[in-house]
Amino acid sequence: MPELPEVETVRRTLYPHVVGREIRRVEILTPRQIYYPDPDTFKAELEGARFTDIERRGKYLLFRLGPALLVAHLRMSGHLYISAPERPREKHLHVVFHLDDGSELRYADQRKFGGFHLVGPDGRGLPPGLMHLGPEPLSDEFTVERLAAALSGRRTPVKAALLNQELVAGLGNIYADEALFCARIHPARPAGSLTAAEVERLHGCIRRVLERAVAKRGTTFSLYRDGEGNEGDMYDELQVFDRAGQPCPVCGTPIEKVTVAQRGTHFCPRCQPVPEGVALKPRRARPGRRGLSVRVAAEPPEPYA
Ligand SMILES: [Zn+2]
Repeated sequence: MPELPEVETVRRTLYPHVVGREIRRVEILTPRQIYYPDPDTFKAELEGARFTDIERRGKYLLFRLGPALLVAHLRMSGHLYISAPERPREKHLHVVFHLDDGSELRYADQRKFGGFHLVGPDGRGLPPGLMHLGPEPLSDEFTVERLAAALSGRRTPVKAALLNQELVAGLGNIYADEALFCARIHPARPAGSLTAAEVERLHGCIRRVLERAVAKRGTTFSLYRDGEGNEGDMYDELQVFDRAGQPCPVCGTPIEKVTVAQRGTHFCPRCQPVPEGVALKPRRARPGRRGLSVRVAAEPPEPYA
């Protein structure tokens, strides 16, 4: 699932191909991927409009077309990319924006959870998730104090708090595990139990992990590709995610995988001690799933700190 670094990479790779281009025609192959407004209005509003900017907020892509705002949410498996028109169409293609230079901005989505909102000038159509997003973790508004306030008093696991987009925007399963490993905090610790020093460490780690992932253009371990169809390079840098059974890059203890916040969660039992009184449900690695088990980093990754 694309998280902040992947969505940011899509934004950066689409930008030079898309900004300045006019949409000649919108082809909607799967109407239900258009969440707002109805597909006919969506087409009518966008045909003839010109892309003026692409921004990102959390895991959302925000395409500006003059006064219009087109929001794309990739969710589980959405893929938005630029393509030559002659390139064969894939099975899961849902929307095609035909651009004035002959290229196509294509939206494919195997699991069909993602899609588009075209927001009106009055703000109608804005996805509810976008309205209530927490601070951008790589911006100045994300301070240690703000993270401390977000975690304070919460009895939910700290991992669940990091996945909550209203507390901090853009983190998902991969980078929540990586940031907690970097900060040496067990993912099942109650969010409100972190000391001031731990919150500060976690704040720095969230930034370091995301910055490295953006620099490496995101993580590809299954479906994710950037706006030009290329894989990201972050997979080989991951320290715990998808590394169950492999040695911790810091202490050599085998990484464990358990369920926390209903998600497969990876941690080092030595660097991130299991909190007292917390029973963890082990998860069995599923060998062969989408080829995950064959993809093993050749060199141990460089620690974050
Ligand atoms: Zn370790």
